[in-house]
Amino acid sequence: MTTTKGIIALTETYGAKNYHPLPIVISKAEGIWVEDPEGNKYMDMLSAYSAVNQGHRHPTIIQALKDQADRVTLTSRAFHSDNLGAWYEKVSNITNKEMVLPMNTGAEAVETAVKTARRWAYDVKKVEENAAEIIVCIDNFHGRTMAAVSMSSNDEYKRGFGPMLPGVKVIPYGDIEALKVAITPNTAAFIVEPIQGEAGIIIPPAGYLKQVAELCKENNVLFVADEIQTGLGRTGKMFACDWDDITPDMYILGKALGGGVFPISCVAANRDILSVFEPGSHGSTFGGNPLACAVSIASLDVLNDEKLVERSLELGTYLLGKLQEIDNPVIQEVRGKGLFVGIELTTAARPYCEKLKEKGILCKETHDNVIRIAPPLIITKEELDDALHKIVEVLSLE
Ligand code: PLP
Repeated sequence: MTTTKGIIALTETYGAKNYHPLPIVISKAEGIWVEDPEGNKYMDMLSAYSAVNQGHRHPTIIQALKDQADRVTLTSRAFHSDNLGAWYEKVSNITNKEMVLPMNTGAEAVETAVKTARRWAYDVKKVEENAAEIIVCIDNFHGRTMAAVSMSSNDEYKRGFGPMLPGVKVIPYGDIEALKVAITPNTAAFIVEPIQGEAGIIIPPAGYLKQVAELCKENNVLFVADEIQTGLGRTGKMFACDWDDITPDMYILGKALGGGVFPISCVAANRDILSVFEPGSHGSTFGGNPLACAVSIASLDVLNDEKLVERSLELGTYLLGKLQEIDNPVIQEVRGKGLFVGIELTTAARPYCEKLKEKGILCKETHDNVIRIAPPLIITKEELDDALHKIVEVLSLE
């Protein structure tokens, strides 16, 4: 069972069918490169949905993992560990928020944001018990837990999982008037992706996030930015919210926070918000564990030391320009910020992703007709040119 065919057969025999991966097995990876069991090399243009911004197995991050694994890996939160505080400080400095609450996966951090917002609504805003509302956007993606799917507008994500969490309002994305209408005295929070990733790299109108920040402030509503996919350099700024020069009341972070090495996520907000938690009110056995913190500290250092945010902006702008030059009626629109680019087609994207795979480029369709191009931020100009050459070839075929 060491061939691609055998491994896929084994996986499909025992695994629940909740994913539809491209027929490729990755058995080795380094930097922007991944390799299958037969030794074929591919360029990774998905970066595990932006979890591998620092590149696969970045040596600094792997060293931090190994060093920490030799000391202590898990204390639970029953005791203190010696690097949780240092990690908090680092995240606090990057987000410019006073407090941090650690979790493991993105969806858990979203869950935490919902719990925070509801408690804040009752304890601080004085909303009547059990009346708090959360506003979200059509086509959002906030993960797969019950709170996250309850906020989804996608029936496929919800079918058979009811009853859904009450108190959720869904409004069109990028529409400030819709938010104005949706806010009531019971609104706890507006949870939004600054750029919708899974929806197909949907960029809201310029200034939208600024208007959101103002509107939320005027109405005493928490503005919660889900930057799990867009944060930490992916869009050419540290956070996608920076494009509108605003700081939300709360950031939700995950994915690249663990450098693609170890899961870690969090919410970050100021004391007046995160102080709603007292001991016993929320937690996670693994949340903020020493191994995750060591990996995350190294991951954030790599982002900073290697100027990956700046690189994402520079190379992303170049990539977008080149892709926009492709002349093919099948291309509806090419859009993006930083190294987070979507090529929207008038037809299904999957056959194109399969053709790209044949040429050694790995990417995955999103929302059926969008090819997402999101390489690790460590990619060089030469490597990007190589990828571009192949993408242009595939998209110019017809
Ligand atoms: N929020 C956003 C914006 C995401 O893109 C994702 C994952 O793609 C999630 C939440 C869920 O994160 P996880 O898969 O780690 O639970």
